[in-house]
Amino acid sequence: MEISRRGFLTLSGAIGSGFALSSLGLDLSALKAHAAEISKANRLKTAKQSTTVCCYCAVGCGLICSVDKVTGTIFHIEGDPDHPINEGSLCAKGAGFFDLTEANKYRLRKVQYRAPMSDRWEEKDWDWALARIARLVKETRDRDFIKTNTKGQIVNRIESIGHLGSSNVDSEECWLMSSISRVLGMVYVDHQARV
Ligand code: SF4
Repeated sequence: MEISRRGFLTLSGAIGSGFALSSLGLDLSALKAHAAEISKANRLKTAKQSTTVCCYCAVGCGLICSVDKVTGTIFHIEGDPDHPINEGSLCAKGAGFFDLTEANKYRLRKVQYRAPMSDRWEEKDWDWALARIARLVKETRDRDFIKTNTKGQIVNRIESIGHLGSSNVDSEECWLMSSISRVLGMVYVDHQARV
């Protein structure tokens, strides 16, 4: 579809009014992304900014949180260029920090469960999920727990349960998960500390 410069400007102006231009066959994703960046830059100029430290690992990078004065919610988080450790840079995990805030409307808030052999996810509550996890762990430990190895040495371990940590847990949560895993006798414990 061909379009004149005048026509393009007219169409661009219609984005703000919510007109569904995509129905005309135009891909406006780049234009919309640019408009969103301009809007964000304007909000940043008037935002209340405060500094904090990334909780994800022991590097301790500095962050700047921008809060919209009208809504009182965080809408942007970036590396602090004045911080002596990271000088504004962040790893991918720290750079995705905003995803963890309440302001992120896409954040998962309910347990998503997919039954064995199923091809669809079901929404569950935490009571259901925790009860199921506890029951399966108990059944598996009762069945597979290894008290001694082939030399008769005491090992007290379970090899049929593993724990894979999340990329969205902080240092204290990692310590807690690691301790619980070890107490249960797990030896296959891994974690994505930094990316
Ligand atoms: S997780 Fe990344 S951004 Fe956060 S403190 Fe560690 S290195 Fe820095």
